[in-house]
Amino acid sequence: MPKIEFESARKKKDQDIKALRSAADELAVVEEVDNAIQQAAEKGASEVHFEPYETKMVVRNRVQGELIIQRAIKGKLKGNVVNRIKVLGGMDITKTKIPQSGFFRATLGDRAIELYGHTMPTMYGEKVVVCIQYKKSATMRMQELGMTKTMMTNFQKSLLQRNGMILVSGSPGSGRRTTAYSCVLELLQETQLAMGWDPVIKYEVERMVQAKPEEKDEFSFADGIKAMMRQEPDIAYVGDIQCLDDVLACIQGTFAKRVVLCRMTSNNAISAMQNILDMGIQPFLLVASVKASLNQRLLRRLCPHCRVPYEPEKAIELELGFRLPPDSHFYRPKGCEKCGNSGFVGFAAIFELYLPSEEVNKMIVAKEPLQTIRQQAMQEKMASLKMDGIMKALRGWVTLEDVLLSL
Ligand SMILES: [Zn+2]
Repeated sequence: MPKIEFESARKKKDQDIKALRSAADELAVVEEVDNAIQQAAEKGASEVHFEPYETKMVVRNRVQGELIIQRAIKGKLKGNVVNRIKVLGGMDITKTKIPQSGFFRATLGDRAIELYGHTMPTMYGEKVVVCIQYKKSATMRMQELGMTKTMMTNFQKSLLQRNGMILVSGSPGSGRRTTAYSCVLELLQETQLAMGWDPVIKYEVERMVQAKPEEKDEFSFADGIKAMMRQEPDIAYVGDIQCLDDVLACIQGTFAKRVVLCRMTSNNAISAMQNILDMGIQPFLLVASVKASLNQRLLRRLCPHCRVPYEPEKAIELELGFRLPPDSHFYRPKGCEKCGNSGFVGFAAIFELYLPSEEVNKMIVAKEPLQTIRQQAMQEKMASLKMDGIMKALRGWVTLEDVLLSL
């Protein structure tokens, strides 16, 4: 493995860095910290925790959700360890009684990673966590998202209007970014410009100009959206719209003929529209701009080698609210060599797609209750999360329990 190489994000605080040379440039400590972060990155950890206790500092990696002890560092070195991370992240080493945050980049071989450090004063010194973001290239194609054929065709149609807002919503961690990027890749032609403005750049998309806000920026997220639109992209992606200013900037962006893909948090495709109305936008502006509202969840994918089919009990139909086809089966996880005995391999997404209809748009403008609007959309055969989930459970992609728990 090549040695990890750091690039400190902020180089302004020369004074601090000088002061630190005497304190933390004790080579042993620097090496210890760098090795700890390198080891964590090699293992694909999402976080490295530096936990101060009375006589020592324990370093643990979070790998796939669980913390695993990596090493213990002598108690007298605690302060120097924290200082090394502060220097890397451009934090102030003279301040130990306030929480601080910093950012730095590193490369590990040909792999680029971004690191976010956060400190907090505790009874035995400062506790630090370093969160690691691995930059990957997005190569995901729309066909790989796992949409049904009908939904895929409908969704593609709305994208190919090449005009208006496409909402991609769901719970955090539901794969919305992946979906949005796959849409960009689907649409982007050689002669066009795609740009993205996102709080975190998780994947680098080839031929897409990506930007993200920095802590020191003296402009708002919405200002960033406006600046991006002034660059005249044909396809714009905005990560996480949260307030009226953000939405207005996106809608204004659609006035020029362009697709604006907006990621947001919401329970379903209709409530995504409602959330935007709640931010204070005029309903007619919203319905005039939105061309599709896609909502999604990410569920554990059953291992195809060991899943066990079972016949559902009759009572389940009542609970689901509709009749299952005859001879239908759901599947349970079992565990085999191929899935590390977990019964699951990777993830599968379930989707809900709302395509605007005149009737539903009228109801939105009339500010009818969310539930009534949703019922109307369902009557018009909107593919719901629940239906899509049950279909995928019947195919053995996911368990019925996971589908129901995710709604
Ligand atoms: Zn298996």
